[in-house]
Amino acid sequence: MDVSYPEHAVAFGAEVHAWLVANLPAGWFGDGFTMPAAARKRFFEEEWPKRMYDGGWICASWPTEYGGRGLDLMESVALAEEFARANAPLRVSSLGELLVGPTILRWGTEDQKQEFLPQILKGEIIWCQGFSEPASGSDLASLACEGVIEGDEIVVTGEKIWTSEAEDSDYIFILVRTSPDKPRHAGISFLLMPMRQPGVEVIAKPQPDGSRGFNKVVFTGARCPLVNVVGEIDNGWRVAMTTLGFERGTSATTGYHRFRTEREEMFESARRNGAAKDPRVRQRLAQSWIVTEIMRVHGYRSLTNVLLDRNEPGLEMTHKVFWSDYSQWSTKLAIDLLGMNGQILTGADTDVRPGSVGLGTRPQMFEYPASPLQQSFFFARGESIYGGTSEIQRNLIAERALGLPKGP
Ligand SMILES: Cc1cc2nc3c(=O)[nH]c(=O)nc-3n(C[C@H](O)[C@H](O)[C@H](O)COP(=O)(O)OP(=O)(O)OC[C@H]3O[C@@H](n4cnc5c(N)ncnc54)[C@H](O)[C@@H]3O)c2cc1C
Repeated sequence: MDVSYPEHAVAFGAEVHAWLVANLPAGWFGDGFTMPAAARKRFFEEEWPKRMYDGGWICASWPTEYGGRGLDLMESVALAEEFARANAPLRVSSLGELLVGPTILRWGTEDQKQEFLPQILKGEIIWCQGFSEPASGSDLASLACEGVIEGDEIVVTGEKIWTSEAEDSDYIFILVRTSPDKPRHAGISFLLMPMRQPGVEVIAKPQPDGSRGFNKVVFTGARCPLVNVVGEIDNGWRVAMTTLGFERGTSATTGYHRFRTEREEMFESARRNGAAKDPRVRQRLAQSWIVTEIMRVHGYRSLTNVLLDRNEPGLEMTHKVFWSDYSQWSTKLAIDLLGMNGQILTGADTDVRPGSVGLGTRPQMFEYPASPLQQSFFFARGESIYGGTSEIQRNLIAERALGLPKGP
């Protein structure tokens, strides 16, 4: 098996790496680098988007007529891997770049493309995703948030929950029920709705480590222009399925870099405090090496599947279950390695989870002083839930990859 990348992708990766060295804060790549949380937040919210834009890295895989660089798949992979290796945020607004932008490219009108894509590209709009509701998560098609057409607007009333980053967002891409009398998949519309207006209330739901960023959003007669419906009224289910496809298909080879970095940190921690001499700990550390290396190979397999247009069923779902299970297991191991100290909240002002991969790409402030490891431990509990729960993924693997009959 040859897992080397083509020459042009290797050269491109080197170009990206050189840019990262020149543009990340001085000392970033050195051992023991720290940066106060407030300075870090300021740098990545204010300075980084500008640098990313000037570097041409935002939405670099989009077509050139919409401001991207038209990168091919292997260049996109090289770009994502270099950022993941450097532990630097590749996305200014991950939901904008990875989910709603590609959805607008696929389904949007020319006017929607002209209005929204340049703003996503410059990092000017922050987006949140309004799919889940208090009584509709895995069974998303049961959603009840209502959208009533009034003149040239849709009036939205209802609740969304687990809305990541809603408190910072300018827009929400939201699913609403526009035709309650139609079959449930057929009466849903996909809207691009402004958040900063009367009738939108964001209620924070702090997490166990005190991090914010998770919310309930209540709409009472909020308004969305009709021209912001994506893919026609009542066609929102098909549009949303494209969006969820983007959500699940983006991290095949980059996730490994995050887990390898965490693995090396665990090895170092076990060497330092002597835990590495305990045979039971050694077994668990060896297991972490085995699983992360399988993850690497699985990433290559998923990539090959796309490159050769093979459409081997179940690979994305297997990947999601595999990495999220491992993440929960390995963060528990890392906390165990700290012994009783793992239970004391020891973070300082300098400790902010870098959050370069996955959903939490915007640096967050924490109310309690959890260390980065403790933050990862808590965050990992949700990884088997967002983007489709592990139970649902297993159902899909059973049906699509194994050809088993549909469950009850
Ligand atoms: C960190 C994080 C960020 C999130 N961000 C967002 C966001 O920005 N926007 C958004 O819209 N949503 C977001 N979500 C919500 C997420 O999409 C939902 O939590 C998820 O879809 C599950 O829905 P639920 O929580 O309602 O659980 P439910 O669907 O009620 O499921 C409860 C349990 O039952 C199991 N279950 C359900 N149906 C079946 C079945 N048919 N077979 C077997 N088991 C089943 C599930 O696996 C789960 O264990 C986020 C979630 C997390 C954890």
